[in-house]
Amino acid sequence: MSNTDDCPEGTQTPYKYEVRKTEIHRDPKIKEWVLKQANGICECCDEKAPFEKDDGSPYLEIHHLKTLVDDGSDKASNAIAVCPNCHSELHHGINRHTQLEKMYSKVERLIKE
Ligand SMILES: [Zn+2]
Ligand SMILES: [Zn+2]
Repeated sequence: MSNTDDCPEGTQTPYKYEVRKTEIHRDPKIKEWVLKQANGICECCDEKAPFEKDDGSPYLEIHHLKTLVDDGSDKASNAIAVCPNCHSELHHGINRHTQLEKMYSKVERLIKE
């Protein structure tokens, strides 16, 4: 049974606003190298990348274990290539601290910062 009576109305024309934000530079060579190590397989769950990009390469995301905002380094010893699901879990999941520890013991090149 579905009841849509309480569905919020939403907005036909949501307004736009500008946000100023500071981005941290990431070395493209690190990203490339880490992706190559992963070879299309998520370093967290060992599943194949969920899809390919326009250029046919597998889609994985780079996650910095100690985040760059927290002054983590942009080095291969602090970065992993993960699928979007694992990436979100590493940021927002209730078990993210356990996941983080798991990554440190799973991926040899990682060094705790
Ligand atoms: Zn994964
Ligand atoms: Zn991340």
